[in-house]
Amino acid sequence: MRILLIEDNERLSALTEEGLNRRGIAVDIAPNLGIAREFLALGSFDAVILDLGLPDGDGIDWLKAGTDDRPPVLVLSARHTLGERILGLDSGADDYLVKPAEVDEIAARLRALTRRPKSRQAKRLSRGRIELDTDTREVRVSDHAVFLGRKETDLLEALLRRKGVVSREAIEAAVYGLSDTVTPNALEALASRLRRRLADAGENDVLHTVRGVGYYLGGRSEA
Ligand code: CA
Repeated sequence: MRILLIEDNERLSALTEEGLNRRGIAVDIAPNLGIAREFLALGSFDAVILDLGLPDGDGIDWLKAGTDDRPPVLVLSARHTLGERILGLDSGADDYLVKPAEVDEIAARLRALTRRPKSRQAKRLSRGRIELDTDTREVRVSDHAVFLGRKETDLLEALLRRKGVVSREAIEAAVYGLSDTVTPNALEALASRLRRRLADAGENDVLHTVRGVGYYLGGRSEA
């Protein structure tokens, strides 16, 4: 599991990172909302831990402005009154813990959040003229149905769910099962098939390989 910790108190974020690392959770730290936005645009995270009092804004406003494709958010704040906790949850937080919290409990809450069904996630994903219904697995380009294999659809979903360049590791985790052997060329072959299907449907030049890193979907200017 990889999470983003949005916290401006350096000592606290270092302690939390160390504790979560020891429990097998990888942590990136954003000391303010601006850096958090950059992290979320580039990387894929299973969950976010959000402090509320941040130097460049309030976590509550950030929650309210949230998008459907944001990972689940655990608020970790010193604001402890009933009203404050309810405001956090009603503003879009998926869970709320009051500081100081034990790392064991933070880790347990993260595990609970990330194993929940993805019902809160958008059912329809789209970018440009490409659309995917995540329930029916139906893909449309310019409103015409496009028939894709299961893995091609999974790859498309992995790319639609994240912004910017999506790492090979994130795609492999999303597309292949734990028991699948992923040969080095398997993903490139899969991407080529998806690229061809999209081109047949009129979407040329939208699926790009970033050598040694991963893939992204979109116009070149959006990279
Ligand atoms: Ca703070």
